[in-house]
Amino acid sequence: MSTSKSRTAIIVQTAAEQTIAARANPLQTTSMRIGRLPGATDRSARDARDKADVAGIRMQHIDKTYPGALSKALDDFNLDIRAGELVVLLGGSGCGKSTALRALAGLEDIQAGRIMVAGCDLTGVAANRRNMAMVFQAYSLFPHMTALQNIEFGLEVHGVGKARRRAIAQEKLELVGLGDQADKYTQQMSGGQQQRVALARALAVSPHVLLLDEPLSALDAKVRVQLRDEIRRIQLETGTTTLFVTHDQEEALAIADRIGVMNHGRIEQIDAPKALYQRPASEYVATFIGLTNRLPGDCDGRHAKVFGQWIDLLPGSQSGRARVVLVRPESLTLSVAGSNGADGVIDSHGAGGNAAISNAATFLTGVGVRARITMIHFLGALVRVDTVVASDDWQRWNGGEPLSVTVQLPENQLPAGIGIGSEVLVTLRQIPALAV
Ligand code: ADP
Ligand code: MG
Repeated sequence: MSTSKSRTAIIVQTAAEQTIAARANPLQTTSMRIGRLPGATDRSARDARDKADVAGIRMQHIDKTYPGALSKALDDFNLDIRAGELVVLLGGSGCGKSTALRALAGLEDIQAGRIMVAGCDLTGVAANRRNMAMVFQAYSLFPHMTALQNIEFGLEVHGVGKARRRAIAQEKLELVGLGDQADKYTQQMSGGQQQRVALARALAVSPHVLLLDEPLSALDAKVRVQLRDEIRRIQLETGTTTLFVTHDQEEALAIADRIGVMNHGRIEQIDAPKALYQRPASEYVATFIGLTNRLPGDCDGRHAKVFGQWIDLLPGSQSGRARVVLVRPESLTLSVAGSNGADGVIDSHGAGGNAAISNAATFLTGVGVRARITMIHFLGALVRVDTVVASDDWQRWNGGEPLSVTVQLPENQLPAGIGIGSEVLVTLRQIPALAV
């Protein structure tokens, strides 16, 4: 950049282009700063606010319909985020994730509802007065600025002096692991590096809330995993309240304090990753996160009989004969179908010496299904085994419909000699499941 005047001209042009691009495609814009919280104009005020901040974010009863749209993009959407928490909105394309994030940022008008941040009602407050920063999928940095200049620019706009903005920019570059890349231009950096700069630029202005809309979707798989872990590390280190939007369940499970699973413009269930996985409240949530078998069962609302075995049901389960019970692969166990039923037992309960006895009992009482292995997937420490149920058994248990079952177990519990085509007995472990 030869003169500050020419640099300004380039910035203005680039910013204008990006505004146009943002209007044309709201998902393809840049990382940006969206102003300050009202009343938080200096560091001491911000520190005081941070200490007093126990409220985090509260989005209540938000409705949003885009002009001309037949259905609501947000339909009585509710979300609370605690200060310092990282919440992920997860859901398929078009379920309203970006709209929810943009409504929080003040980039979308809403027709109903209220948005509170740190106890302040921000409903209707302009985006540039909300003290939020965003990072989008496309890591569009200003191409004629170095990494350092990109970060400094946002600070300059907010009147931070030259020496201070250089110090902050350098510090944020170090935070994202690019301390030695300060003088690189966009085209000299990889996608992952550019997205790190975008993240540093967002964090440089000490936003109250960090908003990330599919920030990793444009990156290849390995970089995606690295950067996702980095985002979580930085978020924990800075304690920034963060809303992260993705359609990738693995990403969500890996980084979230809590995940809100979205469907048709509202959150269907929100909980910690493990709780969401183990205790899904609906079929949509159970099938969106993780693998699940759909097994036939007779249910009384609290218990189900599946393949002759009783298991507990999760809250929200349906009652009735021949319902579908959603059973995770690791909630099933496999044993070799020996002549007397006592051979080669695999018991993922860790029942130890009782395993052979329980397997013999299984055969005597006729529970479980006989199945043939069709595929074995080695997943490192775990192994996933696909089977097809023997025809006698699917005719008996599944109303005459063929049935496949997938079992997952620790690799070291797969008995020697078992392989594709082996006959096995599949039984259930006592893990609660949802009947739908
Ligand atoms: P997601 O981010 O979960 O993929 P969005 O929030 O982008 O979903 O979109 C939710 C719904 O609103 C979709 O049906 C989408 O087509 C619609 N939508 C999104 N943005 C606009 C817009 N600018 N104008 C009209 N409809 C939109
Ligand atoms: Mg989106």
